[in-house]
Parts: sequence; C-alpha cells; structure tokens
Amino acid sequence: MFFFICSISFSQKNMDLNIVRGIKKPDLVGDSILLERNTYYAFKKMEDAAKKDGFNLKIVSAYRGYERQKHIWNNKYNKFTNTHSLEPLKAIKEIIRYSTIPGTSRHHWGTDIDIIDENYSDQENVLMTSKFEKGGVFYNVKKWLDLNSEKFGFYITYNNNPNRKGFDYEPWHYSYAPVSIKILDILMNSEIKKIIEKESINGAEYFNDEFISKYINENILDINPALK
Ligand SMILES: [Zn+2]
Repeated sequence: MFFFICSISFSQKNMDLNIVRGIKKPDLVGDSILLERNTYYAFKKMEDAAKKDGFNLKIVSAYRGYERQKHIWNNKYNKFTNTHSLEPLKAIKEIIRYSTIPGTSRHHWGTDIDIIDENYSDQENVLMTSKFEKGGVFYNVKKWLDLNSEKFGFYITYNNNPNRKGFDYEPWHYSYAPVSIKILDILMNSEIKKIIEKESINGAEYFNDEFISKYINENILDINPALK
C-alpha cells in the first residue's frame, strides 16, 4: 500500500500496551482535539487541501482515554438497562453497535477521528448516518473525503459493506492507516481478554469466552481491509 505521507516516526517495538489500551497517553499533539503526532500532521495536510477546495473539516472526536470510554460505556449500559428496561445482554448488543468496550477503542490510539463539516457543526446529533447521505448537511464534505482522504492516509474504518459485521457503518470515522495498522497489530498480539478488564465495566460479567471471541472477530477485526 502506498501512502502519501512517507516519513512516519512511530516505534512499534517500544509501544507500551497501556497506550494501546488507553491507560497511558500516546505522543499527542493538539490543543482541545488531541491526535497522535503523525496523524496530526497528516490531518493538517488534508485539512489544507480541503480548504483549497472550499471545505472546512472539523474533528468532533479524536483521542479518548480509557476513563472517558468507560464513562461512555457505563452511561449507555445504565440508560439501556434502566430507562429502556433492556436485558443486560441486549443492552450490551445495543451498545456495541457504535461504542467499544473500554480498552479496545481505536480512539485510544489518537489515530482515529470523527469528521464533520465545520459549517454545520452547530447541529444536534452530528454523528448520524443520514446527515452524510444525499440530502444530508455533510453530504458534500463526505463526497470530498471519499475522493481524497486516502491520499493522506485516512481510511473509513467501519465501511458500508453490507457483509461487514461488528460496528454499524460510521461514515464519519476515519483512521490514519500508517500508524493504526501497526497499533492494531500490537493489540492482536496481546491478550485481549486481559485488556477487557472486567471489574469496572458495567455488564462485564456477561463477557464470556464466546462473546469475547465474537467481539474480537467482528468488532475489532471486521473493518475496512485497507486498515489491516
Ligand atoms: Zn469514531
């Protein structure tokens, strides 16, 4: 695979597993939006190119640590089991349509970003698939990204292939392949079961071996093949 950006300063050998899990921060750059260093500079190049074509890209989510992901997970779990009265297993199934188990989020790596169009960033619930489709406010920026993002190393992670399992289609979520491919490799060579720490995540008592292997095969690995 050829990448537009060739000078990557990323050491796979010394990568701490705690970085992969979101416990320790990677080498981050940015102010309110934080990105892994190589990802940051690649994004800046893409942002400039988009601007020249009349589009203002806006990142709404970038680096996110373990604690933040745990907060998201536990909130959703409580909402689905209490307010919506779902059985725990059904609640978990609902959460993992879009959200990861803490410790396994690609947002922990600082390489994955959710992108919208700056001009419409005041909308409620910006991350809705319909907004990126024909007639939606992000359709034009999405078209630009479809044509150009890969030149800068950014690939859609959860694509719209109908045969893909795991997370639902996320037209906003891009991953910086030159670094994230390496981090995924580290994650896959680790003991994922241990990474999915059970004690502090709501509903974790339902993560049996069958669930975990399905989660690994579908949610972690059934992604855009260009990112593996
Ligand atoms: Zn995302």
